[in-house]
Amino acid sequence: MAKKTVEDVSVKGKKVLVRVDYNVPITYKQEVTDDKRIVAALPTVEYLLKNEAKVILCSHLGRPKGQKNPAMSLAPVAKRLAELLPDTKVTFVNDCIGEEVEAAANALNDGEILLLENLRFYAEEEKNDEEFAKKLASIAEIFVSDAFGTVHRAHASTAGVAKYLPAVAGFLIGKELSVMGAALENPERPFVAILGGAKVKDKIGVIKNLLSKCDSLIIGGGMAYTFLKAKGYEIGKSLLDADNIELAKELMADAEKRGVKLLLPIDTVVADDFKEDANYKTVDSAEIPADWEGLDIGEKTRELFANEIKSAKTVIWNGPMGVFEFANFAKGTSAVAAACAECEGTTIIGGGDSASAVKKLGFAKQMTHISTGGGASLEFLEGIELPGVAALNDK
Ligand code: AMP
Repeated sequence: MAKKTVEDVSVKGKKVLVRVDYNVPITYKQEVTDDKRIVAALPTVEYLLKNEAKVILCSHLGRPKGQKNPAMSLAPVAKRLAELLPDTKVTFVNDCIGEEVEAAANALNDGEILLLENLRFYAEEEKNDEEFAKKLASIAEIFVSDAFGTVHRAHASTAGVAKYLPAVAGFLIGKELSVMGAALENPERPFVAILGGAKVKDKIGVIKNLLSKCDSLIIGGGMAYTFLKAKGYEIGKSLLDADNIELAKELMADAEKRGVKLLLPIDTVVADDFKEDANYKTVDSAEIPADWEGLDIGEKTRELFANEIKSAKTVIWNGPMGVFEFANFAKGTSAVAAACAECEGTTIIGGGDSASAVKKLGFAKQMTHISTGGGASLEFLEGIELPGVAALNDK
């Protein structure tokens, strides 16, 4: 069911509580070193300002574990926000609930911003405590959710407040839901899913869900070796998820039954150690030597995967193809990123490592969508209902 967005409600003159993701790096000098997340949330904030709302922003920052901690204060974010919006009055308040906050919210004029202090200074936030959620909601008339990275958690500021206020999606979440939702519900075909990363265990739910939807499933990265083992290959010292060999067999059988093309690495870059400067060579995936471990997909596999990706109409990618942190074993991940960039269809990059690889390689602009939430996008791809999305009002 589609969710209401900020454009579906009248915000003029209203106090609007917006849950944003301002979890940004801050130095000991209280300076924001990377303001990407503040900038990413600007479209929603600017829309609300333009439409004369009284904007109350709230976020977490770091892991203060329910304690007030000046090193994790959002005060430096207020300063940066004021620099980004020079024509807007930005006020910061030293708390996120209570009388002082209420007074500051009531003192807001239309088109002004109030940023609340770190929500996680209260343990009640992550516990989704009802009283805390009620207090947070009491200072506003509308709730806008725009922190996709936290919607898979049922916290007071992501799900709890929605019980007490009309609750709608901001532009960031709106895009996440519409692009990924369309790809899962009604993909243009061929639909190619690419999964990588370390462990099969972490991706079981995603593989199962995508197998019922995609035309081709590409598996690379450390998790591929469990599948190769399940096919009866020797994999040397490569990563093995021994508890899931049987499951890998079942998944391969399921793919065959459904007519989904399953692509595994046909050649592998093996190394004699798990090190940046280890000796390495490329071998056939069926011939991995006993003392070596696979750290990347080989050249033939890169070509095989790239061809499948380039001709797709929809691509979803989550997880690197190798140990891309080491330059010698980053070629597979780079090749997949380049193929996604060349693909003319819809290309969706799940958060986390694949998103950083795409950005680092300079391909970000060529992708349809790069998800802002690693955990949340993985759960979305699993078909799990995200509590912070479920809590929003239906259209
Ligand atoms: P994940 O968090 O499950 O997406 O896994 C990401 C991690 O998987 C990255 O840190 C990669 O270095 C690691 N990885 C990818 N391929 C391999 C491999 N062949 N062997 C060991 N680790 C790998």
